[in-house]
Amino acid sequence: MYDFIIIGAGSAGCVMANRLSADTKKKVLLIEAGPEDKSASIHVPLGIALLSRSKTLNWQFNTDVQTELNSRELFWPRGKTYGGSSSINAMVYIRGQKEDYDSWEKLGNKGWSYKDVLPYFIKSEGNQTINCKLHGNSGPLFVDNLRTVNRLSDAFVDAGEELGYKVNNDFNGDDQNGFGRYHVTQKNGERCSAAKAYLTPVLARSNLDVISAAQVTKIVFEGNKTVGVEYAKNNATHSIGLKDKGEVILSGGALNSPQILMLSGIGPEAELKRHGISEVKKLEGVGQNLQDHLDITLMDSSISKEAIAVTPLGMVKGAMATVDYIKNKKGFLTSNVAESGGFIKSDKSQKTPNIQFHFLPTYLKDHGREIMLGYGYTLHICDIRPKSRGFIALKTANPLDEPLIQPRYLTEEDDWVNLVNGYKIGRKLLKTKAFAPYRDKEVAPGSIVESDDQIREDIRKRAESIYHPVGTCKMGNDKMAVVDHQLKVHGIKGLRVVDASIMPNVVAGNTNAPTIMIAEKAADMILNSK
Ligand SMILES: Cc1cc2nc3c(=O)[nH]c(=O)nc-3n(C[C@H](O)[C@H](O)[C@H](O)COP(=O)(O)OP(=O)(O)OC[C@H]3O[C@@H](n4cnc5c(N)ncnc54)[C@H](O)[C@@H]3O)c2cc1C
Repeated sequence: MYDFIIIGAGSAGCVMANRLSADTKKKVLLIEAGPEDKSASIHVPLGIALLSRSKTLNWQFNTDVQTELNSRELFWPRGKTYGGSSSINAMVYIRGQKEDYDSWEKLGNKGWSYKDVLPYFIKSEGNQTINCKLHGNSGPLFVDNLRTVNRLSDAFVDAGEELGYKVNNDFNGDDQNGFGRYHVTQKNGERCSAAKAYLTPVLARSNLDVISAAQVTKIVFEGNKTVGVEYAKNNATHSIGLKDKGEVILSGGALNSPQILMLSGIGPEAELKRHGISEVKKLEGVGQNLQDHLDITLMDSSISKEAIAVTPLGMVKGAMATVDYIKNKKGFLTSNVAESGGFIKSDKSQKTPNIQFHFLPTYLKDHGREIMLGYGYTLHICDIRPKSRGFIALKTANPLDEPLIQPRYLTEEDDWVNLVNGYKIGRKLLKTKAFAPYRDKEVAPGSIVESDDQIREDIRKRAESIYHPVGTCKMGNDKMAVVDHQLKVHGIKGLRVVDASIMPNVVAGNTNAPTIMIAEKAADMILNSK
């Protein structure tokens, strides 16, 4: 019997395990579907190139058919190991915009304005380079400059400046606008996942148990009271009970958390009926409000040999870099690949940036699953304020089957307009003088794409996710809300959802740091209420 059972050792789950088990009087259990995070490809930053292909560390989901994207089914990688998606992500440290959090509070979520959440960003952060009131220097999540930056990545920042945008050395400072190198969640040249930051250091605590390779299949209730969970491990089903006044913390991420709720009888009435699941609580919002950042890439081949490349010379450089990495934890093995970037407004009517760029000093095709030979670089262009909304549903009532993922990308005309405008600006950036020493020719789109219609066609053909699904157990008090402002599931005792799924609206930027902030705040709320 436990005081807290945490489902999922991802970005949020690791924070919860650490903070809740700090109270030695509480017994905490963390259950993770994936294995321990032992693989070197997790810890060596450039190992990210291998992680999209891993069947053991990655759920490797695919979406349902996207009508606006030539009926394609898009690949959605998600982490399945200690650290969850923070163990396979690109390590970019971005908090989003002040306006994101102020809008959450305006929707009725007391205590979630920027002013309220800033202390939790600061609490989590161990920034190694910036010393100011907006940053934390002693938190567990190490944030650092890249140790080795490719010259091409700096050319991208110069390109932004050349087009009149400002250089921004801190996207998480007062203003997100501009171009700069990304800060990364790395510690001494290694990935600093949520597991490395929060879980590994406390694994020896006697009041914390962790079960890996165990998939929670159901949360168990008596009436509307949470009493335990069931999980599958080694082809058997196991049950674990919760102490009276204990809590289950659901941190399965934006895809699995709503799936687990539905499998346990909490969700839209029609969906539960369709799969013959007994209803515990009708909550129409479970799985709804799915939002993600859609992304289109441009790629140029390069006349210079600066890029990280799969070529005979690239292999030699790779061998030398391995030695450098082992000895000094430096060199291009420390690259997070998305080394620099920028935030801009796609047109003058935007009040704050709505387009994010990630620049990669290498080719990247099909999430790294397809190897491209030769020297080249890739620009990711992403709409960070999408209006399109999708949903998660159940494909079947079998907990071991993947959920149905329907993001409904580009079903709002504004999303088309913004992405097309971003595409045009991206093209201009790659055509600047800053890239003159490197540029050979455009290889993606790779055909004649000039008019808006042609750009739309290219987006239909090639756009992909940049991995920020949120919103499927949204916080609020309207009829589609799943959790309240304390992240308690409406109408249920002893159950909170704590992960990216609770965001009412996706933040304008990457989602790891915001998810860790959410968990820090949740842990504080729980500990202060006991
Ligand atoms: C390829 C990729 C690149 C990204 N790049 C960046 C980036 O550079 N910067 C950034 O800020 N964000 C990035 N993100 C997004 C960011 O990592 C996620 O938003 C964040 O990690 C989500 O945290 P979470 O706790 O909600 O879910 P996750 O971290 O996904 O954790 C969910 C955990 O629950 C486990 N789980 C699920 N179901 C069950 C079950 N039934 N039983 C037991 N365990 C279960 C999962 O295995 C997983 O470990 C990226 C994501 C991906 C996939």
